[in-house]
Amino acid sequence: MLIRQAFRYRLQPTSEQRHQLAVQFGHVRHTYNWALARRQDHYKATGQTLPFYALKREVTALKVDPTHSWLKEADSQVLQAKVEDLEKAYKGFFERGTGFPHFKAKKDRQSIRYPQRFRFKDNRIYLPKVGWVRAIFHREMVGTPKNVTISKTPAGDYYASIQCEREIESPVHIGPAVGIDVGLTDLAVLSTGEKIPHPKHLRTAEKKLTRLQRSLSRKVKGSKNREKARILVARQHEHVANGRRDTLHKLSDRLTHEFGTIRMENLNIRGMLKNHKLAKGVADSGWGTLVTFCRYKAEWRGGVVEQIGHFYPSTKTCHVCAYKNDALTLKDREWTCPQCGTVHDRDVNAARVILGAPTMGAVVPVAASARTSVPPGRRNVKPVEKPSDAKASCPRAGFVEAGSPVLCKAG
Ligand SMILES: [Zn+2]
Repeated sequence: MLIRQAFRYRLQPTSEQRHQLAVQFGHVRHTYNWALARRQDHYKATGQTLPFYALKREVTALKVDPTHSWLKEADSQVLQAKVEDLEKAYKGFFERGTGFPHFKAKKDRQSIRYPQRFRFKDNRIYLPKVGWVRAIFHREMVGTPKNVTISKTPAGDYYASIQCEREIESPVHIGPAVGIDVGLTDLAVLSTGEKIPHPKHLRTAEKKLTRLQRSLSRKVKGSKNREKARILVARQHEHVANGRRDTLHKLSDRLTHEFGTIRMENLNIRGMLKNHKLAKGVADSGWGTLVTFCRYKAEWRGGVVEQIGHFYPSTKTCHVCAYKNDALTLKDREWTCPQCGTVHDRDVNAARVILGAPTMGAVVPVAASARTSVPPGRRNVKPVEKPSDAKASCPRAGFVEAGSPVLCKAG
């Protein structure tokens, strides 16, 4: 099975390189907005969608146009990659109901993607038009690098996210199944009875963020102090987001190792975000991210993530006798089933109902079909994440061209 995994490293560009990156970011943003406007105008004029390849050709032609010759300062492939991003944004809108592509502003997160011609040497990454940029390779990169995305955060930090491809054995995970109830009180409650609380350090970091935001709002617009406060807020935001991502990575790692089948509710997250009372808690807990992480990690490990409809009354149903308790309110943390007399912990019961509920179908159908071919009773995980194609040629040990396999231990 061919998988892709991204490795993210901090960059330390010089001031000259930062300037060069700013040029790339700016030109790429301009191209994206130009292409988006072009597509919209074409649609308004003809009622037809401008085909992707026609748009790509127009962008190439744009550089020859004297009014746009400055675009030559940017790497051509980076510009083309952004046109592809626009295509993906449209696809997302039409096929998955994500938001309509919007024009990008300078204050948004800045990013460019190099599909080719990047290289690694020692603790540096070579980026066309920018040069050899210092990078902190704090962890091993495994597989064949396919592309590099350079981003600048609102706090002014630079990162390289390197997407690597590698072949892994198609594993089959015959671990037990688990139902998971995600909530605002606990991050997750498992059908095994275990409750995973929200990490405390995140709460502390969030409190600090609120305080910094309040301080920012008191600063005079356009003042130096306001800019300083803005950076503090942006940095704290990042700190909170990193902490949350770390928590979700650890939890999804554990769940996909321990359990072959993970069942969760298909929460209507977008709908919940619209509800202001719920929005903050929902956004903070990162349920959507947890599902995404669990999905791809389960696929690597041969497991499945199954989702049940969000209108399924998981909380109100008794997992023992299926009695539906309509009298249950949000305040009831514990309840006794009037039919069979079982005393339920609200969330654990919900997780157990989810475990036994009819699914909307497996989210990872490939792994699901593979599961049936394995004799029952064989337990647990085959070794996973083994870099089978990665020959030991570390960036530290010399030149690595884009597209060649690397396995590096850098620090
Ligand atoms: Zn009951």
